[in-house]
Amino acid sequence: MQATAEPAPVMDDFLPPGLRVPSHDQLDGRMMPWTQPLVLNGEMVACAACGAYRDWLILSTRDQIWLRCRADHQQRETRLDTAWYNRNAGPADATHATFEDCLRHLGH
Ligand SMILES: [Zn+2]
Repeated sequence: MQATAEPAPVMDDFLPPGLRVPSHDQLDGRMMPWTQPLVLNGEMVACAACGAYRDWLILSTRDQIWLRCRADHQQRETRLDTAWYNRNAGPADATHATFEDCLRHLGH
């Protein structure tokens, strides 16, 4: 009996780590909705892609903070860190089975 060769999984590994956006199958963090404008150092954060400045999802994953706008653009916010996230996230941070569940829950 001969083992059939499974096709090798396609590795999406060519981007430098800084450009990799957490995807739903690798997200091992938490997220919270942030509906008001986000002001850092007196500067309002806007989405680099569409200019949205409110209605964020804030993702905390592997010591990185990512902002996701209503149009599903994601950008890393290096001025924020996990400590900031933990200070601002409510203790009753809902946990969800999957990233998609969580997005649905938050209306995204
Ligand atoms: Zn956007």
